[in-house]
Amino acid sequence: MKIICIGRNYVAHAKEFNEAVPEEPIFFMKPDTALLRNNDPFYIPDWSNDIHHEIELVVKINRIGKNIEKRFAHRYYDEIGLGIDFTARDVQTELKKKGLPWEKAKAFDKSAVLSANFFSKSIFPDNESIKFHLDINGNTVQESHSGLMIFDFDELISHISKYVMLKIGDLIYTGTPANVGPVKIGDRLEGYLEDKKMFDFQVK
Ligand code: MG
Repeated sequence: MKIICIGRNYVAHAKEFNEAVPEEPIFFMKPDTALLRNNDPFYIPDWSNDIHHEIELVVKINRIGKNIEKRFAHRYYDEIGLGIDFTARDVQTELKKKGLPWEKAKAFDKSAVLSANFFSKSIFPDNESIKFHLDINGNTVQESHSGLMIFDFDELISHISKYVMLKIGDLIYTGTPANVGPVKIGDRLEGYLEDKKMFDFQVK
């Protein structure tokens, strides 16, 4: 199983870091050791002073596929979940400056929060309006919907599969909307997909 994450898939998020809006999807990967599930607490690593939350819709791949055409991409997933792509922003900023890969800032242990539940895509009236939000200590800090993604699920699956074969159980974290920010010890994070609470855990 692999985790593929999309960078800068919402215009407002690209702009908050003064980054160009991409012309094709940007992706990177996290290993399976990055998963954090079952509302387990997230421990801030001692090598970063700026861990950011990035709430993201997650697509679970249900068929093996390579070079998937966009028009067939909808056959490769049935379920949508919710996750957080925790990012060591201080480390990432240094790596970006040097033109180095992002793994240290993105792929570290427990950096990929994943909801226990996934929902059939058929319960959403259309892929263009799946709402989600992240609350910290009861206040909504990030809120968006899938219609604001620059590249939709089908485009992402088609693009990624040109380079990397997709397999059953692979997860695609589809990018974060604007208003990413730091988490601190003691914070309580709650993620919602539509009105359903998908996870609820503490930062320690
Ligand atoms: Mg992200």
